Amino acid sequence: MIPGPTNVDPKVLRAMARPTLSHTSAAFASIFKETLTDLGRIFQTSGVILPLAGTGTLGAEVAFSNIIEPGDKVLVISGGYFGDRLAEIAVHLGATVDKLEVPWGTAPTVHDVEKKLTSSKYKVMAAVHVDTSTAVANPAKELGALAREKDVLFVLDTVCSMGGMDVQVDGWEINVCFTGSQKALAVPPGMTIVSFDSKAQKVREERKSSPASYYGDLKRWLPILNDPTKYFATPPVNMMYALHEGCRMVLAEGLEERFSRHAKMASAFRAGLRAMGLRLLCDDAIASNTLTVAYYPPGVRDAEFRKSMQEEFGIVVAGELGPLKEKAFRVGHMGNVNRSDILATLGAIEGSLNKEGYKFQLGTGTSTANSVLKA
Ligand code: PLP
Repeated sequence: MIPGPTNVDPKVLRAMARPTLSHTSAAFASIFKETLTDLGRIFQTSGVILPLAGTGTLGAEVAFSNIIEPGDKVLVISGGYFGDRLAEIAVHLGATVDKLEVPWGTAPTVHDVEKKLTSSKYKVMAAVHVDTSTAVANPAKELGALAREKDVLFVLDTVCSMGGMDVQVDGWEINVCFTGSQKALAVPPGMTIVSFDSKAQKVREERKSSPASYYGDLKRWLPILNDPTKYFATPPVNMMYALHEGCRMVLAEGLEERFSRHAKMASAFRAGLRAMGLRLLCDDAIASNTLTVAYYPPGVRDAEFRKSMQEEFGIVVAGELGPLKEKAFRVGHMGNVNRSDILATLGAIEGSLNKEGYKFQLGTGTSTANSVLKA
């Protein structure tokens, strides 16, 4: 129950175990093409989709390196660990970066972002949809509208939301969007997927300097995306089988159904934690449906709590990062998560808190969550 990698369905694991085809064979090209079509449906875009061997961090590098040239002004909105990382990557690539920082557990207001965008001329604005350090879901749709109004390219990190929450890449005017395979898509870690709309493609096409990334240069990949029997660099064949199967499972469930399952699991989980008297890091109005962050009650020790979760109950949850280290814990409820995962996790949390000496009515978390799940 960590916020990624998430549990992988045996169907996806079996797909990965199939014989490794030639990366330029017609049979593999057809799997590649189908995966691109399915990813387009999941990203809700008619833009170009670039799946690469790598992880979410590479996705950020590829997103930026195609559209940023040294000295370009970039605004990064950050309210957590992964927002900060976006800023670091943009700086690394030679951009002049301004950060609009909000405290962990909060989201920026549209007014604040608008003010910042008006204060200077930026080429790019980047944000994280769901920051996995805080569980806050930023107002991506509103940010997209602002970026368009101010004629700024909008880059969105959807590593912790794509496939579990609605992300309308075209509808929300996200020029470059990236995710990773290992979270709500429920595929093992190892792939990043980056989308570029026509505006971002034009910016790449017309740039003066070469992109900082040779491997991640969209221009080098475009011929392969059109005809995967061509060669630029060897795609990760067996990971592509996994991504292919994972996307098919997402679409077989249906995007709407999948998003409402995530919403239901999230609200039941949060209700269960609150019933135990735990305080959550962010308000429901800005809470993501893919993970939850809860503070420990006074006296509960991080390492001992998580050890009990794992050793006594067989459930792995994550610790916190940065300023919240040892003060809170993170639970992922995305991908293949179902009702029994939620109830078992809450039961394990009750048992482990009880062991740590926290006083509350045992059973209240699971029964409250169960009534939400049954409603
Ligand atoms: N962005 C977000 C929101 C993440 O949660 C993560 C990883 O957890 C990353 C970026 C970095 O992805 P990766 O660890 O796959 O490189």
